[in-house]
Amino acid sequence: MTADKYLPLSGREFPRFSAIKTFFRLPHVQVDEDYEVGIFGVPFDGGVSYRPGARFAPSHIRECSSLGRAYHWPRGMNLFKSLKVADIGDCSTVPISIEATYEKIESFVSVLAHKNKKFISVGGDHSTTLPVLRALRKKIGKPLSFIHFDAHLDTYPAAWGCEFHHGAFARHAVEEGLVNPKRMVQIGIRGPLADNTDLDFIKKHQITVCTMDDIKKSPISDFVKTLPSFSVDEPTYISFDIDCMDPAYAPGTGTPVPGGLTSYEVQQILRGLQVKNLVGADIVEISPPYDHSDITGLAGVDVVFELLCLMNNK
Ligand code: MN
Ligand code: MN
Repeated sequence: MTADKYLPLSGREFPRFSAIKTFFRLPHVQVDEDYEVGIFGVPFDGGVSYRPGARFAPSHIRECSSLGRAYHWPRGMNLFKSLKVADIGDCSTVPISIEATYEKIESFVSVLAHKNKKFISVGGDHSTTLPVLRALRKKIGKPLSFIHFDAHLDTYPAAWGCEFHHGAFARHAVEEGLVNPKRMVQIGIRGPLADNTDLDFIKKHQITVCTMDDIKKSPISDFVKTLPSFSVDEPTYISFDIDCMDPAYAPGTGTPVPGGLTSYEVQQILRGLQVKNLVGADIVEISPPYDHSDITGLAGVDVVFELLCLMNNK
């Protein structure tokens, strides 16, 4: 049982539309306190190639998470009674510099990693994942196993002469040795692509790619069984780009692609994943200015809840 300090503010005492907004109405604490999992925001969208707005996601997710509840019915788990989770605020960013932002994210996550805290980063665009992985790789001392939800491969080349952008983070993560491509799975991928040469990188590095066709050709419960499992000896990271979901289920994103996952399919995949040592995770690419009726925000909250449950392997 966790201390009362880490229980969310009760909706039966304070209505869910009231009080100061934190993730899941959890306490906002300093980085060095005794929580087990810290949720923080990374309000940065200087790496996007199309629609901006992901810098506003952390506050949007805090707002939408007021509707979050503690008890995961299929798992029979009261998450916040068994895991000490807190809102540790936002990582500071520099809206006009991706390089300066990368330094800030890497040092923020390094502090958490050296305190052996698990965490969920709420982006921000997908460029923000790279410095998180750099910090974890340094602490762990070997490449991470990596599960990457996305419509896009994110292994694309430089754009406008710039190496670092949201469509290239996965390529850099492999090339810098941050993740092990042989223990890397991409889920929800679909076209169109610029050309078939876009597939060269994943072929060269033997990355496992689960396309939407792979996922939809059988019942979702059968697809889940085809996924590899990740043992306790394998520090694993999950990066969840909300555009893996169909724009009907997640319209508020920067680079939407038709033909994606439903909310229910995402739940089934996240509940079925066998990951025994999830050291960190993120959710990225939610762009509140393009959201409608909080559809995307609420989907994002649901994903964060499933990720937290996956971290709670007690
Ligand atoms: Mn992405
Ligand atoms: Mn994407």
